[in-house]
Amino acid sequence: MEIKEAMEILEKDIHTEVPKAAISARKHDAAVRIALVALKKQIPVKPIILDVLNGDIDYTCLLCGKNVVSDAESRSNYCGKCGCKFDWSGIDA
Ligand SMILES: [Zn+2]
Repeated sequence: MEIKEAMEILEKDIHTEVPKAAISARKHDAAVRIALVALKKQIPVKPIILDVLNGDIDYTCLLCGKNVVSDAESRSNYCGKCGCKFDWSGIDA
């Protein structure tokens, strides 16, 4: 199952109108929302490449905007701030 498909299934699990007294339903919805945030970060996003110079790569996370300058060889597969997964395919650096 693809992550996006799992997210669509979980999103349908969130109650639309929950009475204030329905604490277990509200906790369930909160847990689903937390899971959805974690799942979204597993969908790879391409970093925004700002500069490539002398073996270093300067890039920005598309989701949170964190700017990183790294050795191109040891560039990270995940954002150090928001934890999203980077897709480096097709990026030559
Ligand atoms: Zn980020």
